[in-house]
Amino acid sequence: MTGKTPSERKELIPKESFSEWYDNVLLEAKIADDRYPVKGFTVYTGWGFSVAKRIIAMLEGGLEANGNEPMQFPVVIPEDSFQKEEDHIEGFSGEVFWITHAGENELERRLLLRPTSETAIYPMFKLWLRSHQDLPIKMHQTCNVYRYETKATRPLYRGREFLWNEGHTAHVSYEDSEEEVKAAAKIYQSVYDRLGLSYITLKRPDFDKFAGADYSIAFDTWNPDGKVNQIGTVHQLGYNFAKAFELTYEDANGEQAYATTTCYGMGFGRTLAATIAHHGDDHGLVLPPAVAPRQVVIIPILFKGKEEQATSYAEELYSKLTDAGIRAVLDDDPRFNPGDKYYRWEMYGVPLRLEVGPREARDRKATLVRRDTFEKTLVLESELVEKVHELFDAIFMNLRDKDQAKLESLIVDAYDMNQLRVYMESRMIVRVNWCGDPDCAFNIKDQVSGEIRGTRWDEEEKPTGGCVMCDDEGKYVAYVSRTY
Ligand SMILES: [Zn+2]
Repeated sequence: MTGKTPSERKELIPKESFSEWYDNVLLEAKIADDRYPVKGFTVYTGWGFSVAKRIIAMLEGGLEANGNEPMQFPVVIPEDSFQKEEDHIEGFSGEVFWITHAGENELERRLLLRPTSETAIYPMFKLWLRSHQDLPIKMHQTCNVYRYETKATRPLYRGREFLWNEGHTAHVSYEDSEEEVKAAAKIYQSVYDRLGLSYITLKRPDFDKFAGADYSIAFDTWNPDGKVNQIGTVHQLGYNFAKAFELTYEDANGEQAYATTTCYGMGFGRTLAATIAHHGDDHGLVLPPAVAPRQVVIIPILFKGKEEQATSYAEELYSKLTDAGIRAVLDDDPRFNPGDKYYRWEMYGVPLRLEVGPREARDRKATLVRRDTFEKTLVLESELVEKVHELFDAIFMNLRDKDQAKLESLIVDAYDMNQLRVYMESRMIVRVNWCGDPDCAFNIKDQVSGEIRGTRWDEEEKPTGGCVMCDDEGKYVAYVSRTY
């Protein structure tokens, strides 16, 4: 074989050591680089941002089909707008970045960097809203938001700048905003489903809802380190913001009425982190074909004197795949040997590897290797495209099914505090009966360092006994876990 440069292969870190594995994959697979010299601010690098862009496109496509118009609002919010909704100020003021100066001069009116955009958007909605015929107003934007997080930061999971998409809508009635909450939840679920991610859809307890919301729905997913990862939220804001921002309209009878509003957000860092953490293995990333920047890597296996044969056949296969709309890459870099190339593209999580040697060239065949199972299939050149699509489906279904099984294996029931403590220590997601009293939730957090994350939103679960904490009548089935 040709290619005599020293191996660039490094020792693999087992996924069991999740924290180390994760940091290594972020750098080796060029997902993100956390060495930017401001704490909590991360650089998305080429491969990672290419995956993120595909997730963004999935979500934006769903939102625009739902009638949300794409918009871009300014990153700065004036102090007086921010302070209109009381709960909202209380919830966010501790983590706001302020802009106080322009050059040497103090600004007359302080500005803040949006921690979320309700207070930027609603004053404009007010200008756009005159009559019931103007409703609904539905928009979305993909942007960065800024929160001075005091908890430990971690790239993609928790940063002080994060990339997300936020949707904001205004409606004529509470019923309409209820429908919007359901529609938004469906769009979010369809994105997670296409990434093969398992999650639970919870209604957050009142003490943990979005600041200024009537109620909040959240999508929680498991993480290998035993903390759940919130990958999206949908909020029914009811009349709260509409009243604070005087979002009124003239109804069909000529009377002034308040609109209702909803908002929702999906963090792309966390969704990307979940995709990496769920599907990855000891060799690095394993990407669902739908979001892999390159779906097939073609690696010619070169034998001395027969290089030409394999190389030109590999080029032929590359064109064939590319013409069929498959994102392929031909790695014929002579500086590296095939083993080094396998290592690199496995780290990148490319779903299929196509090996082409002189024998394959002679027989007009190709060997396909699955990234998720390393299973090899020898296929005829004439059936290549069809077979690649079949394997993409098989890979996706395998990832999705394994992911779902993993989530199910993590959910257990506890009926007393001892059981709950044991399960928390073994990093499970625990279902308990709860009386609904926030004090019991706080005591649980104190005693087992797990939080009540909420109750199922998508299905009704009936309590089967007394509250796990106080033994009073159980009114809810709540989920308890450690969290980011
Ligand atoms: Zn209780």
